[in-house]
Amino acid sequence: MDWPGRWTHVEKLLVRNGPFAHEDFSPGPQVFDFVRNVCNVLVIGAGGLGCELLKNLAMLGFRNIDVIDMDTIEISNLNRQFLFRASDVGKPKAEVAAAYINKHIEGCNVTPHFKKIQDYDDSFYRKFHIIVCGLDSIVARRWINGMLIGINAEESEQDGALIPMIDGGTEGFKGNVRVMLPSMTACIDCTLDLYPPQVTFPLCTIAQTPRLPEHCIEYVKVLLWPKERKDEAIDGDDPQHVKWIYEKALERAAEYNISGVTYRLTQGVIKNIIPAVASTNAVIAAACATEVFKLATSSYTPLNNYMVFNDIDGIYTYTFEAEKKDNCLACSQIVHTLTFSELDKLQDVIDFLIENAEYQMKSPGLTTSIDGKHKTLYMQSIQSIEVATRPNLKKTLKDLGIVDGQQIVVADSTTPTSVIFKLNLTSKMES
Ligand SMILES: [Zn+2]
Repeated sequence: MDWPGRWTHVEKLLVRNGPFAHEDFSPGPQVFDFVRNVCNVLVIGAGGLGCELLKNLAMLGFRNIDVIDMDTIEISNLNRQFLFRASDVGKPKAEVAAAYINKHIEGCNVTPHFKKIQDYDDSFYRKFHIIVCGLDSIVARRWINGMLIGINAEESEQDGALIPMIDGGTEGFKGNVRVMLPSMTACIDCTLDLYPPQVTFPLCTIAQTPRLPEHCIEYVKVLLWPKERKDEAIDGDDPQHVKWIYEKALERAAEYNISGVTYRLTQGVIKNIIPAVASTNAVIAAACATEVFKLATSSYTPLNNYMVFNDIDGIYTYTFEAEKKDNCLACSQIVHTLTFSELDKLQDVIDFLIENAEYQMKSPGLTTSIDGKHKTLYMQSIQSIEVATRPNLKKTLKDLGIVDGQQIVVADSTTPTSVIFKLNLTSKMES
């Protein structure tokens, strides 16, 4: 299976010491043996970053790799997700990627999981020594972050080993890599304010003072379309729709002397797409795979703990230490207090949990206990419960029987475990 010199390049780093090696590094063949035969790595995502990660890890000698991805291959993936071919369109990404690596890199054993990360519980995630994420979803990142914090909290009580999480992310020409040792270093939720809310353009700008090509496209999408084609929903995959918006946007751009409206940009704005750039994925995945290698072998100090990369205009890269947040919702033990007036409605609480930068929840479900009895205040995930609890949204907290100091249990897709909040109720109306 191995031929002479196959691993020379990796062994140079592992069987001898060097001036840059980690001070605790003990070189020798046992280190590479761990990489090859013991270390279990989980790759989350088999898309742009995932394809690169699988290839990099396999070429570094990792053989026990699992990959999880819920998506199937689309034709637009093929320009950068290089483990896939046109004949693979429609097939699960995880399965095709695993088969490709297993076929081309002898001895490597990638196990695919065509699943959502939420389909597995902690018994699955505990199997891995290192988890590396190539995700495009903040919700999924926060969920796996919460999962690992839970596992590591239990393990540290029993002196078990921590499972580190390496997270790569890209957006166009920008990317980042971070190394997280859950409960020891900053987690995803500690730095939630680094993920700004989706950029939307102010309506007044779109309507009156457009300056960017995007403003012209948004104008057609938001104002002109509903006026002129009000019975149709915009379909970003329908070329006739894109063409219509593109041509109208061009007219508007000409009116304001704005250049840069293209068909592709139009499609991007309609579908809210930031184009994926293959080279950014390659750089970020390479840095992530290097961190996996460093953690698995202890051959070098891991990244501490956040690297940003940007090649919009030249190449810029910078590393800093993201700090743990003392009252982080995910990794601190602190119960958060929410202050509301007793005349505020349940809907106000839910809106707050969604809109507040610190929480950024998606569809929180709220339960509590009143007079010793469990009560579901509102839950969206199960339709029959949603219908039954919907009237509560318009009720005031007072009418719902909630008192000052009441504990509310909140479940949301951003976390695998429920979060407890304490409600601080004031009797007078806040302005
Ligand atoms: Zn945290």
